[in-house]
Formats: sequence, structure tokens, C-alpha cells
Amino acid sequence: MHCDKCGRPLRIGTEQVGIDERNLPVIHRFGYCDNCRVKWDLDLPATPPAPPQMRCPRCGGTNIQFNLENVVTNYGSRTEMRKKSPITNMGNALGRKGMILATGGLWALTPKKSKYNEIQRGSVQTQQVKTAICQCCGGSWRVF
Ligand SMILES: [Zn+2]
Ligand SMILES: [Zn+2]
Repeated sequence: MHCDKCGRPLRIGTEQVGIDERNLPVIHRFGYCDNCRVKWDLDLPATPPAPPQMRCPRCGGTNIQFNLENVVTNYGSRTEMRKKSPITNMGNALGRKGMILATGGLWALTPKKSKYNEIQRGSVQTQQVKTAICQCCGGSWRVF
């Protein structure tokens, strides 16, 4: 055992660093460098292995990016459909005579959707969801 800094052999000693759950002394071995006056704990528990890397369930790739997005979980319960009547409004403006003349072509010109006004009431609840995206195959899945 040699010093990391100066390369000299270390003096090995032991030292009590604490007591364990059974009240027994915990003795660690130390290496001393007299030159650098540095002490190393030789019995420090090995650094725990890195947490397992997330892998793509599809292709097994580890090149994964994370993305936070808001996902709508609940719309307000009340949705109201209100009917618009463009024909009637137009009729009032043009008078009865104009309305009769206009009616034939107007239906065709009016897009179906514009006949209704959709009014949503209540709040929209969103939830933030973490999504993992595989850079290899493009697959994505939710992470909790
Ligand atoms: Zn040294
Ligand atoms: Zn993949």
C-alpha cells in the first residue's frame, strides 16, 4: 500500500471509528503517509454500485431522455352545447323576403361546426407526467 500522492509506503494502523448496533467497536484500518501527513481509511465500505440504468423496454438502449409534460386528467363535468342560428340572424337582418331567398344556398356554405358553440364549464385538471424517450428507437413510456 502506497501513498496516492507521493508514492511512499503507507504506515498501516487501526483505529476505532465507532460502535455497531451490538455495541461492538468498529475498527477500521488506516494508512498513514508520514510525508504528506494524510490518513486513508482502508476499510471504508466500497462505494455502492450505481443505480441500474434505465433501459428502453423496446430496444434495450440506454440513451434515454426525460421529458416533463402536462397531461389532462379530468375535464369539467359540465359541457354545454348551445345552438347558434345564423339563418335566423340573417333572416332578421334581411327581412322575411331575403331569408327565403338566402335559405337555399346558406346551408351549404355554413360549415357544420359553426352551428354549435361548445362551451366548457369547470376546470381542467392536469397532471405532470414524466416521460422517457428512447433516443435509439424513438419509443416513449411513462416514468413514475
Ligand atoms: Zn504521501
Ligand atoms: Zn429504444
